[in-house]
Amino acid sequence: MNEKSSDKEQFGYIEENLKRMRERIANAALRAGRRPEEVRLMAVTKHVEPAAINCAIACGVDLIGENRVQEFLGKREQLRLEHCEAHMIGHLQTNKIGDILGQVDCIQSVDSLRLAQELSKRAAAKDQRCNILLEVNAGAEESKFGFSPENLEEVLCEIAAYPGICIQGLMTVAPIFTENRPVHPFFSIMQQLFLDISEKKLDNINMDILSMGMSDDFEEAVAAGSTLVRLGSAIFGMRRY
Ligand SMILES: *Cc1c(COP(=O)(O)O)cnc(C)c1O
Repeated sequence: MNEKSSDKEQFGYIEENLKRMRERIANAALRAGRRPEEVRLMAVTKHVEPAAINCAIACGVDLIGENRVQEFLGKREQLRLEHCEAHMIGHLQTNKIGDILGQVDCIQSVDSLRLAQELSKRAAAKDQRCNILLEVNAGAEESKFGFSPENLEEVLCEIAAYPGICIQGLMTVAPIFTENRPVHPFFSIMQQLFLDISEKKLDNINMDILSMGMSDDFEEAVAAGSTLVRLGSAIFGMRRY
């Protein structure tokens, strides 16, 4: 038995979960009058061991997301990333930029002007281009990182002028669902922002990616136009910290 099929045997639940999630994403897209191919599935791999991640990749996952620079770099050598992109999705401290630049295909969690400036400086100095998404704090939660929807366009235009930076879209983490604070309005706010900015066709700003939706709310996110859902526990099971 080769290594790939033994991974699959040990982690059979991953294949099952992926199949089920792909079906649910496709159905949510169809219900919203969208094509299933418009929504990309990211497997969120924080706290997941490399063998399990490689199993997901063997099952067709072509995009993973990691939250922490150190954890990702520690696992990276063991991952079969030849046909799989890796994105950074967690808050990034400026002192880690040097470690991560050039190691991932996109940094989705650009949540401050200072971080964008620092990324630009480092990327430009190395003659690199860094793909980023701007993280939007759509719920205006004090505890969260990200730009507020109110001045997003202004911020986008400023960052778009930075050398070495390539804006590909927006990302958000919705507030946890509770009965009196439903998730849906936040997704609608993001959908509207994304559409408004796309229509303006601003210089140097691609609005190709709207990254929103996690294991508990991805169907609502797809209904509101998400093009990339980030699924962790729905694929790998509950995280053990
Ligand atoms: C952990 C994480 C996810 C995935 O969360 P699940 O609820 O396990 O699907 C998605 N996005 C970000 C930014 C995360 O940190």
